[in-house]
Formats: sequence, structure tokens, C-alpha cells
Amino acid sequence: MNLTGHQLLDTSTSAEGSTTFTAKNPAGGVELPTAFHEATATEIDKALQLAQTAAIPLRKLPASQRADFLEAIADEIEALGDALLERAGQETGLPAPRLAAERGRTIDQARAFAHLIRDGNWVDARIDRAQPDREPFPKPDVRSLLQGVGPCVVFGASNFPLAISVAGADTIAALGAGCPVVIKAHHGHPGTCELVASAVLAAAKKTGMPEGTFSLVQGASHETGAALVQHPRTKVVAFTGSLAGGRALANLCAARPEPIPFYGELGSTNPVFLLPGALSERGSDIAEGFIGSLTLGVGQFCTNPGLVVGLAGEQLENFKSSAAGGILGSTPATMLHAGLHSAYINGVERLANTPGLSPLAEAAGADPAQSHAAPTLFETDAATVLGDRSLQEEVFGPASTIVACADKNQLLAFAEQMDGSLTATIHGTDQDLAEHTDLVALLEEKVGRLVFNGFPTGIEVCPSMHHGGPYPASTHAHFTSIGTRTITKFTRPVCYQGFPQKALPAELQDANPMGIQRMVDGEADGATS
Ligand code: NAP
Repeated sequence: MNLTGHQLLDTSTSAEGSTTFTAKNPAGGVELPTAFHEATATEIDKALQLAQTAAIPLRKLPASQRADFLEAIADEIEALGDALLERAGQETGLPAPRLAAERGRTIDQARAFAHLIRDGNWVDARIDRAQPDREPFPKPDVRSLLQGVGPCVVFGASNFPLAISVAGADTIAALGAGCPVVIKAHHGHPGTCELVASAVLAAAKKTGMPEGTFSLVQGASHETGAALVQHPRTKVVAFTGSLAGGRALANLCAARPEPIPFYGELGSTNPVFLLPGALSERGSDIAEGFIGSLTLGVGQFCTNPGLVVGLAGEQLENFKSSAAGGILGSTPATMLHAGLHSAYINGVERLANTPGLSPLAEAAGADPAQSHAAPTLFETDAATVLGDRSLQEEVFGPASTIVACADKNQLLAFAEQMDGSLTATIHGTDQDLAEHTDLVALLEEKVGRLVFNGFPTGIEVCPSMHHGGPYPASTHAHFTSIGTRTITKFTRPVCYQGFPQKALPAELQDANPMGIQRMVDGEADGATS
């Protein structure tokens, strides 16, 4: 399929701006075919005006029709075949098997949301029936449910060009909730974005979605993103990316005349705690697993384990030497784009120049022309990290620091003072865990997901997954960007008081035509007849 480099404004395309950019293969920096036009202010306005036109018709469609749309998106992405994987590989340097797996996740995710929408229980329907004879005042009939909030703007991240991009969980959840989506294509993989957007638009056409349901705008400058979040028609922004980018856009959302919700899923250091029993029983196995997790995907995961924390002593020294051996045996590899590569080089340099931090191991053979990142380990003590909060900032890539604590109290002090994170991992025996309930309690306050005897990378996509954590991991820790609960970001409760049955949404009618679970008069699953 030929790429156009144009904005895809629902059924029409537009390329009125004269500023263009190209994608580059990060391995070698070769420019890829197709010039992409930066969206102009007029095109951005058109995308959001179209989205506004679609907002009510899309929300009012039967849930089953929106579910059909999501399933059709999965089918259309599948139908793009190898052309999608080839372009994504050229734009990101990610190997074909990884991209094939990510495409599978993207498709499965769309089908899982289709199931959620068809099932209908996500609307959290609540019914409180009228009691006209209640004393001293009659009780009115009150009913509520969650419904889509209107046009939303979605930003994807560079490290998941399929699963957290144009047809990632945020887009699919928003469409399922009945919200039109305008997606900002990532400048690192604009061709991949256009291919997937064309699949979404083909699915919209096949399933009869209202005009304006979906648009894609291109841009390599931050002005594009800023204009999208500041547009008066935008009702919600879902962002996955860096802390700097997320914070800049969150501030713009808050400063609007009408502030709107901004859900930023950002970076994280994902500390791994090594408890004494586990270290002495299987320290070298844990080290091997840790190096696998650290170097997976060239460390380009928001769940990458950037800090490892244990009690100083012989067991931790043994762990360090096994981990250092793993780093020396690892191979540098190409990062997603040149910008991320230079950010990684700067981040590692910053760590290397931090007083109190010492280099432990660095993989050899990195070629800067190939945007290679060398897996790198540092070591330090807890007092150093506690005294310098910059050491808790994410270095995006395969770098990590092993932190030695003098005793359990210092380990707890570290947990108490650590920044919010997407995850924390504990390696321990059952006895370790029983002796560290205080650590678990502290970590429950700091992270969105606690992992026991595993590693934080490789997130399961399932209804109970929570992928979000206290700031700076996310701008709103209540919400997730992975798993079906993602849909709540794109909704708000609407309450109907005194409405006649026929005028109520189907989910709230006494006859319960969708057969969903509801709370009736304060009881789950109550019947209304
Ligand atoms: P990024 O540089 O922040 O880019 C993400 C998107 O935001 C891009 O479309 C980018 O536009 C836009 N953007 C960034 N800063 C902006 C600004 N100041 N104003 C307007 N638009 C702006 O992030 P990335 O490098 O793609 O992704 C890597 C980061 O994402 C890492 O920190 C990683 O930990 C995080 N991440 C988090 C999760 C999670 O779920 N928590 C998942 C994956 C990745 P351009 O295309 O023009 O640059």
C-alpha cells in the first residue's frame, strides 16, 4: 500500500502545509520514502470539528455496532499483512518477530474491547427506584451510567508502534466508549501510523460509523500536539510518552479556559527489591532474570527495572558479580530513533558523573552510527540515592543501578521516599514476605502494580491489569492504559432523574434489554420488575 504523507481527516485527505518531514531508519539513519506534511492549524481544526460532529451519533449507536467496528479494526490491521511489519521495522529498528507479536497484541486488544462493549457491563449502571410515599419527602427515580465524554485526542509512544499507537488501547477504548478520536501520529513512525489509520478508517466505513469518528494528524514539531490539546472541541487527552512531554501537555490542558482531563502514562524506574532469603537461595538465577528484563527490547520499556535494592553484604556482592557478568555477555542494539539514542547516551553520562555512583559493567561494541545502546550497570548505596532525587529519574534504555542498603530500616526508608512508579518487584521467600509486610504496605502507596518473584517487563493484557501509578509514573494514578479498565478514562457518569422508561438509555430501562449487571436500590444484580 502506498503512503500519502497526508492528514487523514476521516474520509478526506489533506496536505495543505508546506513543512514536511521524513522518517529515518535508526540503524544507519537512512531516510525512508514519503514526505509527511505537518498538520496546519486549519487541518487540526477540521479534525476536531469533524470529531464534534460525530460525537453524539457515535455515542448513540447501539453498543453492538461499535463492537463490530472494533472487531473490523482488528481484521483490517491483520489484512495489512507484511507491509505493516516491514514499514514498522524500517521506522523503529524493531525486529520482525517482536513486531509480529506486538501486532497480535494489538489485534487481541481490539477484540477484547469489542467483547467488553458487547457485554455492556462496563457502563456501571445504577438504579434507585422512586418511592413516592417515602416520608418526610418522596424519593425520586434516579439512575446513572458511564458514557463517552466526546472528542478525544490520543498520543502514542515510540516504543510500541502498534500496541500503544494509532490503534492502541487508548484509541480502541475511546471509540468503544463512543468517543471520536483524533490521533497525533508519532514522528518516529509516521508511515506505520498512516497504515494503521487507513485500517481504522476502512473499518469505520465498513461498519457505518458516523463521519468524523476518526482522524490522524501528522507532526514532528510540538506545536501540533499543543494545538490539539488546546482546541476547544477536545474533551479529554490520553497520552503515553515521556515525563517531559506529558508534563508540558498536562500543563496546557490545565491552563485552558475550560480545563480538561489529561491522562498521562509516563516513565518509571520500577525498583526491584531483593530480600535476603531469596538472594541466598537463588541470587544468580534472579540476576539472570534481571538482566533479561533489563535488556529486553533494548531496555525500551516503561517497566524497565532501573533500580535494584538489597541489603549490603556477601549475597548482594554475589548478585552484583552475576549481573555484571550478564551485562558483559550482552550485545548493544539499535534504539527506536536517534533522539532516544542521544537521550540514553546523555542519561548514562549523567549517572557516570554522579558522585557516589560507580560503574559496574558496560557491554562492549556499541556503534553510534547504528544508534546502539550499550547495556550498563552502576552501583551505589542508599544514602546516595536518598540524597539525590535525580537518581530516581528514568533513563530510557538498558541502564540500571544496584543500590546497597545498610539495614532493613534503610531499605524501608528507601521505599518510603521513592518516587511514584508503575511497578515495584519483590524477590523473596514466603518467610521474607512475612517479615516484610511493612515494605509491602509502603510500596502499595507508591506503585500501581506489585510483582512477586517475577519481573516488571512483559505486561499481561487482561481485565485486572492496572498500568499506571502515582506521579511521575502517571498524571492520574487511578487510571490505566493497559487492560479493559482503560475505558473509564473516556467516560463520565450521567444521571437521569424522573425520566420515563422509553427516554432512558437501554442500559437503565427496567426491562434491561441488554441483560447487563446493575446495582438496583443499592443491591448488586437486583431485578427491577
Ligand atoms: P515522547 O517523546 O514524550 O513522545 C510521545 C508523543 O508526545 C509524541 O507524539 C510527541 O510528539 C508528543 N510530545 C512529546 N513532548 C511534547 C510536547 N512538549 N509538546 C507536544 N507534544 C509532545 O515519548 P516517546 O519517546 O515516544 O516514548 C518513550 C517514553 O514513553 C518513555 O519515557 C517511556 O517510559 C514512556 N512510555 C510509557 C508507557 C506507559 O504506559 N506508562 C508506555 C510506553 C512508553 P513528536 O512525535 O512530535 O515528538
